[in-house]
Amino acid sequence: MIFETLDTTGHEQVVFCHNKDAGLKAIIAIHNTVLGPALGGTRMWPYQSEAEALNDVLRLSRGMTYKNAVAGLNIGGGKAVIIGDPAKDKSEALFRAFGQFVDSLGGRYITAEDVGIDVNDMEYVYRETEYVTGVHQVHGGSGDPSPFTAYGSLQGLMATLNRKFGDEEISKYKFAVQGLGHVGMEYVKLLRERGAAKIWVTDINQALVDKAANEYGAEAVGLDEIYDVPADVYSPCALGGTVNEKTIDRIKASVICGAANNQLATNEIGDELSRRGILYAPDYAVNAGGVMNVALELEGYNRERAMRNMRAIYHNLTRIFEIAERDGIPTYAAADRLGEERIEAIGKLKLPQRTGDTRFEGRIRGGH
Ligand code: NAD
Repeated sequence: MIFETLDTTGHEQVVFCHNKDAGLKAIIAIHNTVLGPALGGTRMWPYQSEAEALNDVLRLSRGMTYKNAVAGLNIGGGKAVIIGDPAKDKSEALFRAFGQFVDSLGGRYITAEDVGIDVNDMEYVYRETEYVTGVHQVHGGSGDPSPFTAYGSLQGLMATLNRKFGDEEISKYKFAVQGLGHVGMEYVKLLRERGAAKIWVTDINQALVDKAANEYGAEAVGLDEIYDVPADVYSPCALGGTVNEKTIDRIKASVICGAANNQLATNEIGDELSRRGILYAPDYAVNAGGVMNVALELEGYNRERAMRNMRAIYHNLTRIFEIAERDGIPTYAAADRLGEERIEAIGKLKLPQRTGDTRFEGRIRGGH
């Protein structure tokens, strides 16, 4: 059964990690290492079944292959899940046992934080393996990726505005921003600094809404009202799946561009956006700033360089829009195509990533 699934998904390797004493049940999925070692976070979640955990890790790791490829990184796609409740089941032994499994892969898989995991958990993983990104800055880590994700999203936004309207003057447009967390608030700040004509915001957390209103002059609207405002751009920066059958008729914006993952409920919604002439900036291309930032840790982290690299997101979006036009396909499909084309072209140049690859020796530990 599993191999049948892997035939379809195209994964290279799936590792089941088990340590009874530490209570570890984890799965590491390496989807594709043609471009480089597989990089992707570890998620801890109380999965109801092993099948659910397996599905999730296979889906997420495949997504990382596309995201990393489109971001122009020399990085492949992978992901890990730990089955357990982050509120109850965490321990030093658990994360160190997990770290040993990551280490056993010799750099084919490099981990990072994801849902349910924080920088303190990663400290334990780091004791067992150097194949970790997003560790504390004292170890040469890059710290919170959110400002980079927000700045990268702004680059993606400018490319999208340019495509749709022929200019990228933020000050000419009105924005609806859903979610004012780590990324959303910074994004609102960047929009304000560039003189956005109007910013509507919403969040479950009233304190964040007040902050956006007081500090950045945004207008607060209710959670459900964000779809109805007469914005030019809808920027989802909270949850996935908000562009769906129920919201599509309400969204007035002619551009959708934001940082949230998995914005489209289904591919059919993406097709419909395209039919309606609403320009959708593919989420994983827009929000790649975070992964581009941690990827730099592998070469020796440099914050200024990381900020400069964010400009690539502008060009990636432009390329995606060109492919959509060239092939007559919706933008979400064009993003996948860009990723596939890059893997194919670069894959012809060199062999897949192997254990012992020396390209990433310059990283964190030992400072060599
Ligand atoms: P966060 O948890 O800091 O912020 C999310 C915010 O959304 C919170 O303030 C929350 O209250 C709000 N929210 C939740 N449900 C809402 C709803 N129904 N309506 C309005 N607001 C709601 O998360 P974040 O790090 O800012 O990430 C935001 C999104 O961007 C997520 O989808 C995340 O997967 C994606 N993303 C983040 C990064 C990063 O660097 N942090 C990188 C890539 C993608």
